[in-house]
Amino acid sequence: MTQQRWDAIFVGTGITSLACAALLVKQDPSARLLLIDKHIVAGGYASTFSRPRLEATFDCSLHKLSGMDEEGNLLRILRSLGLEAELGLVRPADYFCARRAEQSLVLPNDAAGVQALLTARFPGQEAGIAAFFEHVLTHGRNGYYQFQMQDGSFEPDMAQLRHAHRHLKSRTVYEGLAELVDDPFLVELLAAPGIYVGGYPEDLGYLYYLHVVYATLCRGNAYVTGSSQHLSNLLAQQVIDAGGQLLLGTAVEQVLTDGSGHVTGVRTRRGVFHADQVYINASPHYAAGNLFGEEVALEDTVGRLAALKPARSTTTVYLVTDVDPSTLGLPHTESMLFADDPSAAFSARRTATQVGAGEAASEHAYWQCSPMEVTNYRALDARGGNVLCLNVLDSAAHWPQRRTPAYREKKVRAAATLKERLLRQAPALCGHVLHTEVATPHTYARFTNNTEGSGYGAMVGTSLKGHTFHHGFPVRGVHFLSAWVAGPSYEAAFGYAEMTARQWTRPAARA
Ligand SMILES: Cc1cc2nc3c(=O)[nH]c(=O)nc-3n(C[C@H](O)[C@H](O)[C@H](O)COP(=O)(O)OP(=O)(O)OC[C@H]3O[C@@H](n4cnc5c(N)ncnc54)[C@H](O)[C@@H]3O)c2cc1C
Repeated sequence: MTQQRWDAIFVGTGITSLACAALLVKQDPSARLLLIDKHIVAGGYASTFSRPRLEATFDCSLHKLSGMDEEGNLLRILRSLGLEAELGLVRPADYFCARRAEQSLVLPNDAAGVQALLTARFPGQEAGIAAFFEHVLTHGRNGYYQFQMQDGSFEPDMAQLRHAHRHLKSRTVYEGLAELVDDPFLVELLAAPGIYVGGYPEDLGYLYYLHVVYATLCRGNAYVTGSSQHLSNLLAQQVIDAGGQLLLGTAVEQVLTDGSGHVTGVRTRRGVFHADQVYINASPHYAAGNLFGEEVALEDTVGRLAALKPARSTTTVYLVTDVDPSTLGLPHTESMLFADDPSAAFSARRTATQVGAGEAASEHAYWQCSPMEVTNYRALDARGGNVLCLNVLDSAAHWPQRRTPAYREKKVRAAATLKERLLRQAPALCGHVLHTEVATPHTYARFTNNTEGSGYGAMVGTSLKGHTFHHGFPVRGVHFLSAWVAGPSYEAAFGYAEMTARQWTRPAARA
């Protein structure tokens, strides 16, 4: 494949690249696309790994696609690619089951149902709960249809937009919720879906968060039979069927330019590939630091990138059980486990970030006090085996270097802590765990090159400074395409991919 010319090259085959490439060849079947990834399978986080002896397949990310009802953006795009039937969509009955101490609360998969349930459980907070859901259904909805707002197909109420801009834009989720409700458990509960986009309530912008709740709760959610890898493979196949190629197990070493500000292709150990359009799916910090030669003046971009903070990383514990986990006290597809003292999490995380706080403070804050998300994959897709996945948002900062005794010991501690939390909620699980393995923030960084192991691109906080890092990029023909520009989630990836594909001009028209 050395010395070949392509119409466009994609650096990385994460879900944003795959979606964009598939949409692009649908729109322009003559486009010849090359997608290159350092990993041996396509998909980036949208991939799986298996343990055949245990008949178990682990999904590296997906448990919930948002925007999957008739008015959802993601379902619309998947249909436009002709993929709906092949995905075997699984639609869970519940949003999630909240568990704390001896109590559990099953949140249904509709906003009105959740509002009614929470109002009954927290009677003194009725007005605040109602105000929150009104915010979700107005400002969350406006945020959700932002692409349609740009192309004129969705007309927002201007008064609502002005109100949001003046009063909600500068609030964090924590500040927004604290204005409405004062029960610490209710605050934690309403903020829990922040785990889907890599942020705690003190990290995320309230206005942005309203759209996350709208997308996941009000616009339908679903899983894919066969996992995220099946989705990635279907997209990859569409690109290949149109004459494109995937080059896996091959890192891009450099993005090449003509020395006068135009991209000319990429260099890999397998040779040089030429194109006058290059889409960078890898993290922009990594790309700016590693992928360009000295002829490219990146000071301005690097300066802006300093303000682009990564979302939280994740520590994940994968479990395989000997029988169906639903029979062991975990009947729901998703559970959120809260600490006994919900008011402790916020202050524990603040303590953990103070200078000299030490590893134990971080372990206490992120592993013990903050919400833990548990997916029962067996309930979503039995073909993947008896798999449970335990996720906490985490920080790479307190993890020692890989391959050191301290790192290995810490992995054992993480597994024990998260498992212990689960067993307290589901004691019937005791004695049924056949296999345990751990992915740390370093694991995530190693497999994807994402900055600090972020699983969700950039943190979407109250300031969007840094999010424009790619404006005026000094090399023409270079585009950034990932959760770092699209926002976290598969739905954001497909939305951004659709917008990017629409901007494609045929090579003949460019010449
Ligand atoms: C634990 C976890 C759970 C999640 N759950 C959900 C969920 O249920 N629902 C949801 O909507 N979202 C979820 N997300 C978020 C979602 O998975 C991500 O937002 C999305 O997959 C990011 O895709 P991306 O296109 O930015 O690329 P990435 O997946 O980050 O892929 C980037 C690719 O670039 C490649 N690359 C990097 N450098 C090079 C190089 N030099 N040469 C070649 N290739 C390179 C990497 O190997 C990688 O394949 C989850 C994320 C995590 C971490």
